[in-house]
Amino acid sequence: MKHGFMGKILRVDLSKDRISFDEPEESFYRRYFGGRGLIAYFLLKELEPWVDPLSSSNKLIFACGPLTGAPISGSGRNSVGAKSPLTGAYGEAEAGGFWGTELKRAGFDAIIVEGKASSPVYLWVRDGNVEVKDASHLWGLEIKKSRETLRKDLEDSSVKVAQIGPGGEKMVRYASVINGMSHVAGRCGMGAVMGSKNLKAIVVSGSRDVSVSDPEGLRQLAQWMVRNVKDVAYNFHNYGTGASMDAFEETGNLPVRNFRDGEFPGVDLISAQAVKESVRVGMGTCFACAVACKKEVKVEEPWNVDPVYGGPEYETLAALGSNCGVDDLKAICKANELCQRYSLDTISTGATISFAMECFESGLLGEEDT
Ligand code: SF4
Repeated sequence: MKHGFMGKILRVDLSKDRISFDEPEESFYRRYFGGRGLIAYFLLKELEPWVDPLSSSNKLIFACGPLTGAPISGSGRNSVGAKSPLTGAYGEAEAGGFWGTELKRAGFDAIIVEGKASSPVYLWVRDGNVEVKDASHLWGLEIKKSRETLRKDLEDSSVKVAQIGPGGEKMVRYASVINGMSHVAGRCGMGAVMGSKNLKAIVVSGSRDVSVSDPEGLRQLAQWMVRNVKDVAYNFHNYGTGASMDAFEETGNLPVRNFRDGEFPGVDLISAQAVKESVRVGMGTCFACAVACKKEVKVEEPWNVDPVYGGPEYETLAALGSNCGVDDLKAICKANELCQRYSLDTISTGATISFAMECFESGLLGEEDT
């Protein structure tokens, strides 16, 4: 493999405690292109159509693209895919952060997790070496405590961790997979599939270079992005996602009270501009990205919100805010933090709550159900 990929895919069968490696031809990578292309290929080729998504027969795939790990904005991303326990169909979610880059530096373009461990485990992947390690002491821990414990156990505070919290362990059908503290592969219940395999975390560390065919050209492009980010990505750079919520509301495109209403007068209280003015304490980023669109929020009263869990994206502001009729920004920030701690998708969590609220209002749920 000349450039773009490491040329190796890791397979771990947790039922058989077996580790193996695929080394596809370059033509395979050119055809399927990494990320969700690889995920779709392996799921369609290797899964029987009747597979229960939460059974050991499902496969959970983490996959990088050709640019993952290349030093340019937007490249720090990876996909996570499996048959979805939420939809029963193809499921895939994507996350930014630093984990995908580190996986490539550790020597792998993707990890295919098969089977189910007999007790909680985590994978430890370092520069081509792979171990399945006991995670009994981590099971039940929230994201922050779990990462702290893993880094302490491995005596390395720089390892990158993709993991589930209690939501994934309990196989909530919309549980997410979180890398770092706030980079979330949220959709389709990939965290539930991870929990069904008794897999708490995948920890990666690598020191290899990700090869690109034209390093100088890429460097110039990356520098152009740094110089021009304020022009080409003004809103994302200054506010993150959610800067256009007022426009969405005006055009009836904002989810309001389980999509029953088209207007939400409190939209300016929960937009990204409001986040910046009232609760934002910083902007984080992903590997090599000049956009730096990741909000970090801190709240001290009436609840404590820990900034390490980031801040609410547009989808979260809408799902846990306007879609639930909530215009209390601090409450949304707290709900976002709880979802991150437990590894729950904020969109599906908000949609579930708003659905329950509507059921209550229409008498389908009563006091005794709440
Ligand atoms: S910082 Fe924002 S724009 Fe850059 S890769 Fe991460 S999510 Fe994408």
